[in-house]
Amino acid sequence: MIVLLLSGCGPMESSGPGGKGSLFPIVDGFDFPVGGPDGQGWDITGYGFLEWSSVSNSWHPGEDWNIPLAGNGDLGEPVYAIAHGEVVFSGWNTALGNVILVKHRLPDDTYVWSQYAHLDRRDVRTGELVQRRQQIGTVGRGPNNRFAAHLHFEIRSADLPANAWPRTNGTAWEKERVAQYWLNPSEFIWQNRYHTKQ
Ligand SMILES: [Zn+2]
Repeated sequence: MIVLLLSGCGPMESSGPGGKGSLFPIVDGFDFPVGGPDGQGWDITGYGFLEWSSVSNSWHPGEDWNIPLAGNGDLGEPVYAIAHGEVVFSGWNTALGNVILVKHRLPDDTYVWSQYAHLDRRDVRTGELVQRRQQIGTVGRGPNNRFAAHLHFEIRSADLPANAWPRTNGTAWEKERVAQYWLNPSEFIWQNRYHTKQ
């Protein structure tokens, strides 16, 4: 019988609290989910973070990314994992269409979750480990082509269901309450960018 002992010095470490016994990667930094690693070629032309959305009657908990002026021309464009992590949900729901939720372990042993919604295609399954910049799906139009093609993208500081939305029984949560569970995605990524040079 062979027993492998894993030291904690590599980029992979056996999981601590919150893990499930599998190897859980630690992030080495974050990239943007569409376009170049810095999001080049794309912009938030739809709802931004904590903008009031009259469509959903709520404070928008993420960012809507598009290729500016592309219309549906960004349909089928690649969507990338923003950092190493584990896919904790990959599936369909009626509000968001195809949605992927990835859990990320930070070097200080805290976690954030990235959520990618309205996807045309999902390329990863629940339970899979993903690498930063790995393609996990493609940009889509949401359930029944409800939207013009765009990526709805969230970063959460809390373990919420993939389809969580800051609204209860039709009533929008207060902005301050939303900010307790959701982070400003672009701000977070810029503050935690992956750097190729030390
Ligand atoms: Zn959105």
